[in-house]
Amino acid sequence: MNWVNVRGGENVDALNVLETSRVQYEWRKSAWEKTQELRRQPGYEEVFLLETASQLGVRLSRVLDSLHIVTLEESMTFAEFPDVVGIGGGYTNIPYNGGVVKAKERPCWQIPLRALLPRRCENLIIGGRCFGFEEGLAEDAREIGNCLLTGQAAGAAAAAAVEQRTIPRELDVPRLQRLLRQQKVNLG
Ligand SMILES: Cc1cc2nc3c(=O)[nH]c(=O)nc-3n(C[C@H](O)[C@H](O)[C@H](O)COP(=O)(O)OP(=O)(O)OC[C@H]3O[C@@H](n4cnc5c(N)ncnc54)[C@H](O)[C@@H]3O)c2cc1C
Repeated sequence: MNWVNVRGGENVDALNVLETSRVQYEWRKSAWEKTQELRRQPGYEEVFLLETASQLGVRLSRVLDSLHIVTLEESMTFAEFPDVVGIGGGYTNIPYNGGVVKAKERPCWQIPLRALLPRRCENLIIGGRCFGFEEGLAEDAREIGNCLLTGQAAGAAAAAAVEQRTIPRELDVPRLQRLLRQQKVNLG
């Protein structure tokens, strides 16, 4: 079996449903046509298309305008934050300081609660691929491991805000961190 990940194309606006529908249509058609083409090659007559994804997946579009935007520099220098709620992983080879740093040489990086809190909206917490980070960190921030981490932090923070009867940005952070540690979250 051969699994193929296709790319949407240059400058496709992930927020425009007509464009994402067009891309989805074109790639499905292309997958079908490529399979037929392959079947015409000697030795490949039995090849068939097993499955295509049920819907198009968007790698990244908008990210949060947060109280703190995590930077690539912070991720490379293990910047410490008093309101750390998770330690992200460096999953990808990343361009940095004119070179490329390999994933296995990357340090882990702290994610502060403020990166999950919008600057201009009080009662909202964002976990997953769209918390606040700069573009250079996007390839890492959106990885599943980091989505799990920010998702857990966001959930715990929401519960803590209800318990403490306050808005997320006024949480008693050490108390939230104690809760996360009880849940076996590594905060360093
Ligand atoms: C093609 C592709 C390949 C990838 N490969 C990898 C990989 O190999 N490794 C890796 O680590 N990462 C990979 N990623 C990235 C990773 O999968 C995503 O960044 C991550 O899963 C995002 O998690 P999330 O929880 O933020 O969002 P999602 O997993 O997208 O979850 C959002 C959920 O919200 C639901 N939803 C949306 N709107 C509403 C609504 N109005 N009401 C209720 N529910 C709603 C959606 O249906 C969805 O279930 C890949 C991404 C893509 C698109």
